[in-house]
Amino acid sequence: MTPPLRWALIGASDIAATRLIPAINEVGDTITAVQSGSRDWAAAYAATHEINSWTTSVDELLNRADVDAVYVSSTNEKHHDQVVAAAAAGKHVLAEKPLALTVADARAMVEACERAGVVMATNHHLPASPTHRIMRTLVADGAIGQVRAIHVNHAVGLPQHLQGWRVDDPIGGGVAYDVFVHDVAAVRALIGGQALRVYAAERTGAVVAQSLMTVVNWTDEVIVQTHDSYDNYHLPTWLEILGTRGAIRSSGCMTGDPIGEVRLFRDHQVTDIEVGPRDDLYVTTVRAFDRAVHEGATPLVTGWDGVRSLAAVEAVQASLSSGCSAAVQLVG
Ligand code: NDP
Repeated sequence: MTPPLRWALIGASDIAATRLIPAINEVGDTITAVQSGSRDWAAAYAATHEINSWTTSVDELLNRADVDAVYVSSTNEKHHDQVVAAAAAGKHVLAEKPLALTVADARAMVEACERAGVVMATNHHLPASPTHRIMRTLVADGAIGQVRAIHVNHAVGLPQHLQGWRVDDPIGGGVAYDVFVHDVAAVRALIGGQALRVYAAERTGAVVAQSLMTVVNWTDEVIVQTHDSYDNYHLPTWLEILGTRGAIRSSGCMTGDPIGEVRLFRDHQVTDIEVGPRDDLYVTTVRAFDRAVHEGATPLVTGWDGVRSLAAVEAVQASLSSGCSAAVQLVG
């Protein structure tokens, strides 16, 4: 029986409150402390979530011997420095997406964790989704033959309480860093490989992109089409995988909730696929992280996977600036 992992939270965020704190509790791990830049917010957050200790200092948190791992869910521009500091302190790291604002910084984060010999995972949640896991199995089992194209509709309506930095921050905000980045991680988990070249078009809101469409050359064999937005309050999300012998369509699957349906299309016959247990995505992620720490398993989404998805975002920005397609930096 392995001891529970003792976590600390860097960033007193909504995603930690709504998803990760419940997931950490669910798997039987513990939370030692929370850090936030604001004293009042840190204290209130600790009280609300029954966390015994809080601080405004990342260093103080990282110097604690009773912390094994950190979950970094601050705003995007802080991730790099916080993860590098955590690695230097010998703490395992589960870091939020986008890992950083540049691929160079994200690489440096993963390399710092490798040098320190600590586990690093990226919290891209979709590969943990029951619908995505069954689609991955269908593809791996050859149910649709060779994959040729993927369509992703990840256009969502952004709730009022999550607007803030997502729509106001010209550097870390916008759908590319926030939503498209998940599409790339999801496609990699489904079919492997990585994005090679991106063509992007956007519709900008007051400050940042509110709606983004891309066409991505994915390896030499597959084309991926994505739509991400903050202002679709009506149509459910979906993902379709088109293969040489069949196709898969999942509706309602681009979400943090374990919902959605999966159908297999072959020769004009449609089969509803049994999705299996509707396990919470974040619980699955934390369980996989624990196995990585205790048993040396590979996390569900690695640090390098997080670098790969950020590299595609950088190519989106390059394509938007130039009006042409842009190559994606390849990550080994
Ligand atoms: P929030 O806006 O809820 O929190 C981000 C930071 O804002 C907090 O860490 C805190 O800063 C500060 N903050 C928030 N509320 C207050 C407050 N009332 N008073 C003072 N400061 C406050 O961010 P999200 O939870 O939406 O996102 C956090 C990260 O998680 C981002 O990197 C995002 O991309 C990622 N994310 C990932 C998701 C996933 O499913 N994988 C889903 C949603 C977000 P401080 O650092 O000082 O504590």
